[in-house]
Amino acid sequence: MTVVGGRAVMENGMISVDRWAIGSQAYFLTHLHADHTQGLSPSWRRGPLFCSRVSAKLFPSKFPGFDLSLLRVVDIGRWHSLSIASPSSDSASTVHFLAVDAYHCPVMYLFRGEFGYMLYTGDFRWEAMSDRALIGRAMLLNALKDVNLDYLYLDNTYCNPAYAFPSREVAAKQIVNIIESHPKHDIVIAIDSLGKENLLAYISRVLNIKIWVWPERLQTMHLLGFHDIFTTKTSLTRVRAIPRYSFSIETLEGLNRMRPTIGIMPSGLPWVAKNDKGNNHPLGPPVIDPNIFKKYHQYIYTVPYSDHSCFSELKDFVKLLKPVDIKGIVTSAPSYTNPLYFFGHLCGTKQTSQALHQKNETLRSGGSKLHKKGVKKLQHTGARASRVSILRRVRRGAKVSDTDSTLV
Ligand SMILES: [Zn+2]
Repeated sequence: MTVVGGRAVMENGMISVDRWAIGSQAYFLTHLHADHTQGLSPSWRRGPLFCSRVSAKLFPSKFPGFDLSLLRVVDIGRWHSLSIASPSSDSASTVHFLAVDAYHCPVMYLFRGEFGYMLYTGDFRWEAMSDRALIGRAMLLNALKDVNLDYLYLDNTYCNPAYAFPSREVAAKQIVNIIESHPKHDIVIAIDSLGKENLLAYISRVLNIKIWVWPERLQTMHLLGFHDIFTTKTSLTRVRAIPRYSFSIETLEGLNRMRPTIGIMPSGLPWVAKNDKGNNHPLGPPVIDPNIFKKYHQYIYTVPYSDHSCFSELKDFVKLLKPVDIKGIVTSAPSYTNPLYFFGHLCGTKQTSQALHQKNETLRSGGSKLHKKGVKKLQHTGARASRVSILRRVRRGAKVSDTDSTLV
């Protein structure tokens, strides 16, 4: 991202977050999920790459042969600074940045510079009452006291009232209940190549059982500091964590031809709250089903264990920080809507916010009088709705420049 005086400081040569194309002076990685590393490869050498200590540890196994001298470790909770050239004025400019725990896999970044204050959440879960979120909250409030947050790049994966789900603690208990209620079954749990480690550790601890993972995942677990919980020996446990891409009805049917097996899919994605008429309604008040896990198929349960914030958490987050402007970082999110549609009225005001306010009003009024740009965005997202499950993980990141006046 490039920011100066206006909003997008991410274009034309300053810094990029989770984007790896040529043209920036410094690159920031929030975490190593594949949708944030598109364009990164072992041969990538475009500049210094700032990342958390955890990401730095995982880098050699994710990108064997990567030039590790490019990595700059950013410690959580401490301001760092970076001197870069301003493409518009040819003068040097200092960007300060603070990494905050995103309670997902590593971090979000708060940037401070001549462009103002800008927060890039990456993917994050804002469970406001958890200890880690309380620490993050204190860090952000302390850094932003007496100043405006000018730009918020928000994880809008579930930015719609239809997405309502409980805390991960509640969802994890449900998963344990499902496992305990199937004492004679094998269990397979779908996970990605990174993330959900705390869920698996919780299951292991409560049930006093080891958990099988595939060999590369075991290596990742060891790098993350989990040494005694996981195994690659199937004979040691009936609970296996398998790659999400291999988790399907066909897989479960195949496994059940050999042994009784159930599958558990921990994800926020299937969880659309129903309105009081029982219809899925993206704009209606959400009603959370008290029976939070669902039997999706004869052999499959889905449980709303999500590492992304649900709508009410996003709303709390915006209310707390009162950014002047918001940009969703996932343009292909399920039921994508510009976050300003829901949160524009919670935004703070500063300089150019007259125009912003106008834009929010027209967006909220139903669309007929939208600015050209707003119309384009809404139509664009509507057209993509049917493809979201394929696309939702491939478009993230931002680039900030001091000359670009549109967010990318
Ligand atoms: Zn992620």
